[in-house]
Amino acid sequence: MSITIKAEIAQSPINAAFLAGDRLRVATAQATQNQLLRRLAKLDPGVFARLCEDLQPVPLERGAVLGVLHKPLEWVYFVDSGVVSVVAEAGDRQSLEVAIVGKEGVAGFADALGRLGLPYRLVVQLSGLAYRVRTGVVTEHVFSCTALHELLMSYSQFVMHQLTQSAVCSRFHGSVQRLARWLILTADRAGTNRLQLTHEFVAQMVGAPRSAVTAAAAELRARKIIEYGRGTIIIKSVKRLHARACDCVDAVPVLPPE
Ligand SMILES: [Zn+2]
Repeated sequence: MSITIKAEIAQSPINAAFLAGDRLRVATAQATQNQLLRRLAKLDPGVFARLCEDLQPVPLERGAVLGVLHKPLEWVYFVDSGVVSVVAEAGDRQSLEVAIVGKEGVAGFADALGRLGLPYRLVVQLSGLAYRVRTGVVTEHVFSCTALHELLMSYSQFVMHQLTQSAVCSRFHGSVQRLARWLILTADRAGTNRLQLTHEFVAQMVGAPRSAVTAAAAELRARKIIEYGRGTIIIKSVKRLHARACDCVDAVPVLPPE
């Protein structure tokens, strides 16, 4: 692990406590915010301890691509903080975010389940930290039917629900509704109402022309629901933003923290 990575991880008081030698390990479930890892520790402490032997902390830097189209993934990422977008391509530089991964989930595990080659990209939307593990390690857990397998099967269903809702949303709902929904879901995963995002990036995620996203954002700003400038969007009222979002915003509830 490089010195730079160590320094970035050490900025977190939680993670700094577990910095030891050249490897940083998740010594206890309390060391991570990732809900799947915390559930695994409860379900089967032995399996959790074995997995911890192979987990490596890595910073998630905004804009970093964790997985590209049709290429098998070397790593599986348990998100500790920050947000990773699952982005489908539509050609002509158009794209659409079809699911997001925060501390409730894991990015890039399809290969571990035998689905080689992603039909989407995995892009870091908001910076943070992840614990990564080699895909082959997760595959061993899947084929051994450990508690991790059980958790991944359940999480797969959660992702499928997101994909379904995303298809409905992009077909039937307007740009203001979609933008409001997207901002709420992103802020919820990020744990902050201050988001470092540009309109161009948001347009790619929402799957709308930039002009439509700019007009939608202007409408929300005129109503004093959001504020923005210099690559930052601030949600001033989650309640009022929620009222402008489509029903999709509540259609796929995240499991409550264990
Ligand atoms: Zn919708």
